[in-house]
Amino acid sequence: MISIAADFECGNAKHIRQIAIDRFRLEVIGDKPTYCYYFCFDVRNDGPASAVTVEVWPDSRFGPEGFVVSLPTTVWVASRGDGRFRPLDRERVRNTEEPLLIRLNLKANETIRVTNAWPARYSDTQDALRRLADERGDRCEAFTIGESVQGRDITGIRTGAPGKPRILCVAGQHAVEFSGTWGMLGIADFITSLVPDAVALRERIQVEVLPAVNPDGNAAGRNAFNAEGFDMYRSFGEDPAAEAPEAHESRLLWDMLVKDRPALWMNIHAFVGWRENGEYPYDGWYEVVDPVFENSNRARQYQALCDTMRLETDGMSTHGRANVHRENTMCYQMARRLGIPSVFYELNVATAGPHGAAKRAIHVFKRAVHTLLNSK
Ligand SMILES: [Zn+2]
Repeated sequence: MISIAADFECGNAKHIRQIAIDRFRLEVIGDKPTYCYYFCFDVRNDGPASAVTVEVWPDSRFGPEGFVVSLPTTVWVASRGDGRFRPLDRERVRNTEEPLLIRLNLKANETIRVTNAWPARYSDTQDALRRLADERGDRCEAFTIGESVQGRDITGIRTGAPGKPRILCVAGQHAVEFSGTWGMLGIADFITSLVPDAVALRERIQVEVLPAVNPDGNAAGRNAFNAEGFDMYRSFGEDPAAEAPEAHESRLLWDMLVKDRPALWMNIHAFVGWRENGEYPYDGWYEVVDPVFENSNRARQYQALCDTMRLETDGMSTHGRANVHRENTMCYQMARRLGIPSVFYELNVATAGPHGAAKRAIHVFKRAVHTLLNSK
């Protein structure tokens, strides 16, 4: 007998129904029309080897647009007990319109996890950070900025030389944009490593890395929102002039920025699929549009960072130009109110699991820091 379930950390699927002996149908659970693409479910086979087809439909509350724009994409599969995913052969996926069709061959008594974004689970991220702090206690420490709405620690790694320019790195505002979290784990590993570049950088900067700033959304497999139903990227919601951001976790971050302004804020989000994209690896980036910075030196430094993103990263591979942060985003408001420059990169989850994401994120980090330390 074959069954499908999604009731696990980072799981996402609803209205799961068997519609034929070898065919299932399910819907993704979205947060709003533009954030309703993610799925992650287990297909379990308790009997002899069998083939099954799974229809993945958009969330019926929101219509197909936000789902279809995520296609075509990579469908990742992993046998239970093996944390490493691999891309499912393209001919096993109909991947250009809804429903997305996935054909699986299951061995006897096999369970296969199926997803369109290789999950970076909150519990694993916590373990990875704890391990770094334990094994590299001579050069880094774990810290927390507080608890999420549901009581999960928002944990980071801190390293570098006190008094030097501080770089605050975050990911996971949109919880299932896992390549951002993978990327930040890569940066945390790199900057606490014995790679000579990293050893030298630790003398010149301070770095704080928070890989999963929306842990409740992560655990629940939510596309965009925190447990209160707020979008942490559009932190100020409908009111860019509001004194504080809407979401509890955003306020924790904002308080940290106000109290101790970093020299640079690095934020990684994710795209899905390559429908509108030109070149592999289909990444992207965002900018605030000047005039935002009151200080002209800061404005010039920000321009240098924007040039770095355009010319020295894969950000151009999506549209060839930067997207624009609106006034209600934290990136915009920290630039305007606090004079903090940001680099904002989007890693494509279709082309980035843990390795690809780490590699690209470390590259962006190194180039941005180089510019920060050398721009006049
Ligand atoms: Zn995002």
